[in-house]
Amino acid sequence: MTTKEIRQAFLDFFAGKGHQIVPSAPIVVKNDPTLMFTNAGMNQFKEIFLGEAPVKYARVADTQRCLRVSGKHNDLEEVGIDTYHHTMFEMLGNWSFGDYFKEEAIAWSWELLTGVYGIPKDRLYVTVFEGDEKEGLPKDQEAYDFWKQWIDEDRILLGNKKDNFWEMGDTGPCGPCSEIHVDCRPDAERKNKDGKALVNADDPQVIEIWNNVFMQFNRLKDGSLQLLPAQHVDTGMGLERLVRILQNKSSNYDTDVFQPLIQFISKESAIAYNQGESNEKTDIAMRVMADHIRAIAFAIADGQLPSNVKAGYVIRRILRRAVRYAYTFLGFKEPFFNKLVPILADQFDGVFPELKAQQDFVQKVILEEEVSFLRTLATGIQRFDKYVAEGNIVDGDFAFELYDTFGFPIDLTELMAREKGLTVDMDGFNRALEVQKARSRAATAVDTGDWIAVNEGEENEFTGYDSQETVAHILKYRKIKAKGKEQYQIVLDRTPFYAESGGQVGDTGFLYPASAGSQEHENSIRITDTKKENALIIHFTDEIPEGFKLQEEVKCVISKERRSDIQNNHSATHLLQAALREVLGTHVQQKGSLVNEDHLRFDFSHFAKVTDEELDRVEAIVNQKVRENIQLKEERNVPFQEALKRGVTALFGEKYGDFVRIITFDDHYSKELCGGTHVKATGQIGYFKIVSESAVAAGVRRIEAITGKAAEAFINEQNKLVATLKTLLKNPKDITRSVESLLEENSKLKKELEKNMYEKAAGFKDELAAQAEKIGAISFIARKLDFGNADAIKNLAYSLKESVDNLFLVLGNDNEGKPALTVMISEDLVEKGFHAGNIIRELAKEIKGGGGGQPFYATAGGKDSSGLEAALEKAKEIAITLAEKA
Ligand code: ATP
Ligand code: MG
Repeated sequence: MTTKEIRQAFLDFFAGKGHQIVPSAPIVVKNDPTLMFTNAGMNQFKEIFLGEAPVKYARVADTQRCLRVSGKHNDLEEVGIDTYHHTMFEMLGNWSFGDYFKEEAIAWSWELLTGVYGIPKDRLYVTVFEGDEKEGLPKDQEAYDFWKQWIDEDRILLGNKKDNFWEMGDTGPCGPCSEIHVDCRPDAERKNKDGKALVNADDPQVIEIWNNVFMQFNRLKDGSLQLLPAQHVDTGMGLERLVRILQNKSSNYDTDVFQPLIQFISKESAIAYNQGESNEKTDIAMRVMADHIRAIAFAIADGQLPSNVKAGYVIRRILRRAVRYAYTFLGFKEPFFNKLVPILADQFDGVFPELKAQQDFVQKVILEEEVSFLRTLATGIQRFDKYVAEGNIVDGDFAFELYDTFGFPIDLTELMAREKGLTVDMDGFNRALEVQKARSRAATAVDTGDWIAVNEGEENEFTGYDSQETVAHILKYRKIKAKGKEQYQIVLDRTPFYAESGGQVGDTGFLYPASAGSQEHENSIRITDTKKENALIIHFTDEIPEGFKLQEEVKCVISKERRSDIQNNHSATHLLQAALREVLGTHVQQKGSLVNEDHLRFDFSHFAKVTDEELDRVEAIVNQKVRENIQLKEERNVPFQEALKRGVTALFGEKYGDFVRIITFDDHYSKELCGGTHVKATGQIGYFKIVSESAVAAGVRRIEAITGKAAEAFINEQNKLVATLKTLLKNPKDITRSVESLLEENSKLKKELEKNMYEKAAGFKDELAAQAEKIGAISFIARKLDFGNADAIKNLAYSLKESVDNLFLVLGNDNEGKPALTVMISEDLVEKGFHAGNIIRELAKEIKGGGGGQPFYATAGGKDSSGLEAALEKAKEIAITLAEKA
């Protein structure tokens, strides 16, 4: 079976058991402070498990693209070294939300693996939770008994809490799980040694393929467990591992998932791939590349560009790891990694279509990253060579610097060190790594208290599309502590507060006791921000005033003026996007957006700088649409498929529900899927002004703009500036002309001044030559000049040298408070050991400065002009001393 067939068989099987097949969620996670990337199939259903969202389908199955490169699940360092851990992999999963439980889940997994896929029964092992008395957790006898119906009892193994008890986090849903392992060793080996001992023992040929989690409990902050009101099943099977078993290979990389990539790499590098578990560096490098391209390409396709912070930095580091391996072991000194994108896009065509649809964009982003990293890499290698040449040992801190700054995987640093006959202090490296990890943990650590229930009720109705005030009840609240700051989070049954999403910032405002009537009531809760966490709308406040009656009705009022400014910017963003597509082309896709009360920031795909004329046209179109005062058309609850048919573009990397909201400004102009809040008619925007255009990344441009009040203030500012200039210029008719002529005049004057100085200096020559004082054999000249042009002084010094024998010349001058000295010595004195550079260092002390130069000519600058006279006197003393020696 091919991978496509294996994947399809899974989905068909569970569809046949009454499961709804749903699409994969994007790999980049939004609205979850605990997670950067999707790392399991269950992530997109978290809100159901937490009881925060209704169950749409009781049975669901899908294939989910996952990434395990950060946080709790981080397999990165294993990848490429072993044969069955990947950065990005597909997790096949089936779910029951309060529907079937252990019996069916176990029976169906057995039926699928042995019946549909035909895996021999004597290659399978299953594990069941053994219980943990200390934690008060019972043995999962039920699962044990259900398994007994299908598999020999001596193939059912008991496992501990680490392997067989699943928890979402420190608190929240949890329960026992049951894993299925496959022994892939050849028959002879299997006869020799019982596979049982190799289960969960990191043996590359006895691997876990499927985990069935039975969500039974909810864990509270104090560690105690509550039985969940509805019990769920959550399963995950790694597609690449399954494929390897069904295609009878000893490594995931030998399957049709990875072979097209590996063969291409092998062909282009002209190095053979030796297959399987070989630990040749070239093999590891090919596996790393074939694996990493998948993680990088899908992260970018889902909206996460490589960058220097957070999730973007994680992606950048993975990319660099791949490029570094390719460079060192496969000889790819020029950008190559990006060329894998088309192969990958073909493989996933029809499975995850977002890659094919953005193939050029993704490839271009990777190419640019490669170009800049190859430059960094060269610097890093130089740094290494220099460091080693200075006789340094490769200590942990240096290895860490290479790892952190230059993206050198530690095994490569070790190799480079070995080539120089050195070893790396691995303990030191690990310590430095641990320190960094601890630091980032501390920076992101949030201490979250349990929810404290206040009122009963349905959660979360958002009323803010229609009203800015709502009477509501507080349902629950909790205390959180992050970065040493305490805050409260509040959940209401209904709320006009918009929770940050789709680029629009969250609302601020107040909760007042409804009974108090007056909005000025002192006893109010000040809402500083509103955010989504999974499906919940969370209101943030720094303080709940003492005596606030939480159980009673509250009046929720958002900050209206702020919201109105935000709406101007949000609607303007829609008008801007449509105008960009009109002026630049339909390749323009949103790649990021920020809308707050001050301005809007819009990132979009486009491969060249937007020219000034293009920007002017875009701005003119938007302002035209503003003046047309187009009425907002808002449609809620449009079926997603219908919206697509009507030509509304969905964003990649965005997770849409079955029903969507469409925001239209003129059916023929702007139609977007959007959850944000908008102006009633475009005239409210007032005026739209672009303030900057720049590059964010390869192929991504950024426009920043302002609207309404801010645009008005900006224009007023500009006007004021012009008025001030006019006054300064004495109110000319044409300011441009007047400034131009000022500049012309200025440069003419400058030239004249320079000419004057040269002439003056030249005129000085004879005067100075006549002034030369005989000190022994030396002709000594010292003079303070009253002009400051350095070139003119240099000329003067050189021409004096031409005409005066045995010259020792010292010139001092003051250039607007900055004193300078010049010393010129003629060749005959230089031959006798005079040295202008040494002399000037002495003299420079008098003007609190320093300088130097050649034996015959030297200059110095300083800070104290009042020392110039003293410097000249000192020069005379030096001349006297030297004359005696000469
Ligand atoms: P392992 O112990 O092998 O790392 P796990 O316990 O981390 O596996 P789960 O979190 O239970 O795995 O994930 C469910 C399934 O997803 C696993 O049975 C496996 O088939 C697959 N899987 C997990 N991690 C990876 C990975 N890094 N690459 C490929 N497949 C994976
Ligand atoms: Mg794991």
